[in-house]
Amino acid sequence: MKFIDEFRDKSLSLKLASEIERLMEGVSPLSFMEVCGTHTMAIFRNGIKALLPEAIKLVSGPGCPVCVTPTSYIDYAIALSRLPQVVITTFGDMVRVPGSDRSLDEEKGEGAQVKVVYSPLDAVEFAEKNEGKEVVFLGVGFETTAPTVAASIIEAKRRGLPNFSVLSAHKLMPPAMRALVASGEIGLDGFILPAHVTTIIGLRPYRFLADEFGLSAVVAGFEPIDILEGILMLVRQRIEGRADIENQYRRVVRPEGNKRAQELIAEVFTPTDAEWRGLGVVPQSGLKIKEKYAQFDAERRFKIELPPVKDNPACRCGEVIKGLIPPLDCPLYQKVCTPEHPIGPCMVSSEGTCAAYYKYGGFE
Ligand code: SF4
Ligand code: SF4
Repeated sequence: MKFIDEFRDKSLSLKLASEIERLMEGVSPLSFMEVCGTHTMAIFRNGIKALLPEAIKLVSGPGCPVCVTPTSYIDYAIALSRLPQVVITTFGDMVRVPGSDRSLDEEKGEGAQVKVVYSPLDAVEFAEKNEGKEVVFLGVGFETTAPTVAASIIEAKRRGLPNFSVLSAHKLMPPAMRALVASGEIGLDGFILPAHVTTIIGLRPYRFLADEFGLSAVVAGFEPIDILEGILMLVRQRIEGRADIENQYRRVVRPEGNKRAQELIAEVFTPTDAEWRGLGVVPQSGLKIKEKYAQFDAERRFKIELPPVKDNPACRCGEVIKGLIPPLDCPLYQKVCTPEHPIGPCMVSSEGTCAAYYKYGGFE
């Protein structure tokens, strides 16, 4: 416990904050994006914005897998849940995200079989015990989740399960960051890199940020000291005129990432173009199941024609995800859209930016 306490030490936080303030004197304002939803939550929970000088702006990015999953995917999952033999298995947040007409949760109220599980392996176990059912796991997540889903598919194959499949909407973070930066829509000086994703993929996939776009990036942990130190490292890079990819979270993140997890992903998945809420279709930013494991691919197994999606035109999740507006600029925020009655995924997910603002009292 002592270990964690050290990373929450108040006087050290204040020291880091005043060092940032000192360095920023007379320097033009800097804007950094925290890509990851867990960072967003940690920044709010620990009041980090209040500790920083006004000249530093933190912008929340597309790092919540639930938030970036497009409505078309929810509609597909709902259509699957209506098939009589299908049981949808998923992590908790996904069931509350509204599709074109309704959420999986509402569908469940009408008799669809939707089961919340804590790991994809639970879904495999469930499939084994329920031979008469088609068990579909909603594979939603970044590079962090993909290895465990890959392992569950390998395990289902090993057990010879004929009734388990995955509807894959896995996403890859670096291509989305490239799309965001290349769009030129948002002016950024650097990134706080997503820690869990980087634990898997290592630092090299972010090189393009520094080499092609001259942006600074630091992978930081989730404790207040981690985040403040990460910001300090970013500020130093900018002041020294450097653009580099640095690692504040050395106690967890290895520069080369986690080779075993990378192998699992490569064994089962192959990169594919993928649709992101807010970003549209981003080349090579998703993971589809390889031919070799086709029998475990829900998309190949159940062909479903869907009507065009209907997104709520007033919901501005797309712009929130890209860091173009804070939730407070959405006309529905707090008035119509609350965690109890979410209109968009950014209010549903425990890592969503709108949910973070709502829970911890957002301010700009
Ligand atoms: S997997 Fe973890 S580090 Fe990555 S975006 Fe999600 S919460 Fe952040
Ligand atoms: S407040 Fe609600 S409706 Fe508005 S952007 Fe956030 S989730 Fe979407």
